[in-house]
Amino acid sequence: MHNPGNATPDRFPAQERFEEGAQFIAGRPARGTSGRTHTVVDPASGEEVLRYELAGTDDVDRAVAAAREAFPGWAATTPGERSDALHRFAAVLADRAEDFARAESLQCGKPLKLSREFDVPGTIDNTAFFAGAARHLQGQSAGEYSGDHTSYIRREPIGVVGSIAPWNYPLQMAAWKVLPAIAAGNTVVLKPAELTPLTSLLFAQAATDAGIPDGVINIVTGTGREAGEHLVGHPDVAMTSFTGSTAVGKRVAEIATATVKRLHLELGGKAPFVVFDDVDLEAAAHGAVAGALINTGQDCTAATRAYVQRPLYDAFVERTAGLMETVRLGDPFAAGTDLGPLISHGQRDRVAGFVDRARAYARVVTGGEAPEGELAKGAYYRPTLIADAPQDSEVVQSEIFGPVLVVLPFDTDDEGLALANDTPYGLAASAWSRDVYRANRATREIKAGCVWVNDHIPIISEMPHGGYKSSGCGKDMSAYSFEEYTQIKHVMFDNTAVAAKDWHRTVFGTDSRLQAA
Ligand code: NAD
Repeated sequence: MHNPGNATPDRFPAQERFEEGAQFIAGRPARGTSGRTHTVVDPASGEEVLRYELAGTDDVDRAVAAAREAFPGWAATTPGERSDALHRFAAVLADRAEDFARAESLQCGKPLKLSREFDVPGTIDNTAFFAGAARHLQGQSAGEYSGDHTSYIRREPIGVVGSIAPWNYPLQMAAWKVLPAIAAGNTVVLKPAELTPLTSLLFAQAATDAGIPDGVINIVTGTGREAGEHLVGHPDVAMTSFTGSTAVGKRVAEIATATVKRLHLELGGKAPFVVFDDVDLEAAAHGAVAGALINTGQDCTAATRAYVQRPLYDAFVERTAGLMETVRLGDPFAAGTDLGPLISHGQRDRVAGFVDRARAYARVVTGGEAPEGELAKGAYYRPTLIADAPQDSEVVQSEIFGPVLVVLPFDTDDEGLALANDTPYGLAASAWSRDVYRANRATREIKAGCVWVNDHIPIISEMPHGGYKSSGCGKDMSAYSFEEYTQIKHVMFDNTAVAAKDWHRTVFGTDSRLQAA
């Protein structure tokens, strides 16, 4: 018999942990008041994890009001005080690491080893990084640039930041949105994806338990159309920070622009993986499989288009397909599992649709189907390699967001780099070569916010993440993110102490100093 809400308590007791509701406003849990509910489903089993009341516009209003009320006090704290609070926050997250890993794996279907070794430690490290960075806001030095004035720069928080996050890395996306914002003195209302609210709520609770004041971090879990659009258009929200698809990003940009907000967009990707003919084939094939399949391919920087120089093409296709077949699909909580399901059955069907349509114009070398047997009830899809697709086909041009790698050949270096740049996206890319000049040329010519050489995927708190072209604008992580979450004020002091200043000639029509004399 189906037992709503209690199907997965041994994995993470979501129903019990969120019995007070799946909103977090002014330092405490609350219930959404939209009048509608949403059910979080374990994509590995199809079982219900949590049924909760969605946020409506009134909940967004209350969260924005709480953030607005908290803003002056939080903005007035010293960088050292914010740093202390973030250090405490990092310590609470570290204490609860296993809780976070289990909740993340349950709601996303990620293998527990990925949550434990990537999502959770990455988030703790990010929190520790911003604890340090809070004390190092940079600017140009003060000086007498005009000769008659002292100029200096103030770097100030913007106010209430309205953030919207996707479902693929819910904890890390919450951290990337919240941490630089609050380190700089802003307060935040975050709307996670309605499919994956658990770890954002745990994150906000951990902040409160670490002593971060009520209202500094608020979470509203509602739909994009209702809660999301209301947050973006809200007159008391000074900035919108959005991570998600390019299509929704365009809609968000329209609303934010109409209300003249600071806008930060982290959008879709279709990362090229360029393999030159001098490469170590084993290294490139392993890199392609790991880079394409991490998080079941639901990664905005995942390797999606491998361009392989002609002499290596056939061998690369064969070796990469063979390695894909060794990756073990299974229960995300089982020790032997490498790859979990997609986020939902809907997403699985969407991915299958791309692959099925590709059969008419390309070769599906391996995968291309959902597994049968025990895994059939989950949203699983086999790792898939597609060869010989035309450059202008949809599997090469569109973001599939699943465990699918497309491999294409190229002849000259010029052609390989031109093909790599030939999509609307520009989030990430990699170049594979043992020739330093070739690799260096690729890093210059590929238009993307990150280019790896002889690797694909690693990120680090000290370095920025963000897109070129239709992949968005602005940076997450690193000190560069403060450019998004602060505004720069120029303060200019007169040093002459004279009533009639030299430049007044432009108004008085004569030499103002002579007139004064
Ligand atoms: P999505 O665009 O469908 O949704 C993202 C968020 O926007 C969700 O919280 C959703 O509820 C909300 N939303 C939906 N419609 C909205 C609207 N009209 N107004 C306001 N908010 C709205 O994306 P997704 O399917 O959740 O995530 C996958 C996408 O995210 C992929 O395109 C992926 O590349 C992208 N992504 C980008 C990065 C990056 O750093 N560039 C990181 C992770 C994911």
